[in-house]
Amino acid sequence: MTTDPVPPDNPVRVTPRPSVAGEREDALTDTQEEIVAPPKGMVGTAMMRGMRRCCPNCGAHTLFVGYTKVAPVCTNCGLETGNFRADDAPPYFTIFVVGHIVVGAALAVEQNFHPPLWVHAALWGPLTLGLSLALLPLFKGAVIGVQWAMGIRG
Ligand SMILES: [Zn+2]
Repeated sequence: MTTDPVPPDNPVRVTPRPSVAGEREDALTDTQEEIVAPPKGMVGTAMMRGMRRCCPNCGAHTLFVGYTKVAPVCTNCGLETGNFRADDAPPYFTIFVVGHIVVGAALAVEQNFHPPLWVHAALWGPLTLGLSLALLPLFKGAVIGVQWAMGIRG
C-alpha cells in the first residue's frame, strides 16, 4: 500500500470486548475491538451514503465491488459491510418506483397523444430497463445504510 487510508469522518465507535472467564486481561489489544451500534440519528446520513454507493459508516466509495455486489469489508474503516443482507427490499422498491413512473407516463402519453402501439413499445421497454438498472443499486445501498444505522444484521 502506498498511502494510508483516509480517516473516516464518522469513525465507528469501538469498545473493548468484555473479558471471557479464563482469558488473560492483557490479551485484549488495541486491534481487538468490537464494533458497537452507530450513533443515533445516523439513519438519514447512512441512507444517503448508501445511495451514493458509499460506506454508511465513513462515506468512502467502498460499498460495492461490482454492480450490486456488496464488498465484504470497507477498506477505509473496516466496517464489515458483507454482513448486511438487503434481500428482496431493493428490487421491491425499484419495481414500486419504476412501475409508478412508467405506467403513469404511458397512460399520460396515450391519453394526450394517442400514439401507435410501436411508439409505446419503443418508449416504455427501454425506459423500464434503464430506470430499473439505475435505481436498483441506489435502493440496495440505501437499504444497507438503514440496516447499518439501525443495527440490523443479516
Ligand atoms: Zn467505511
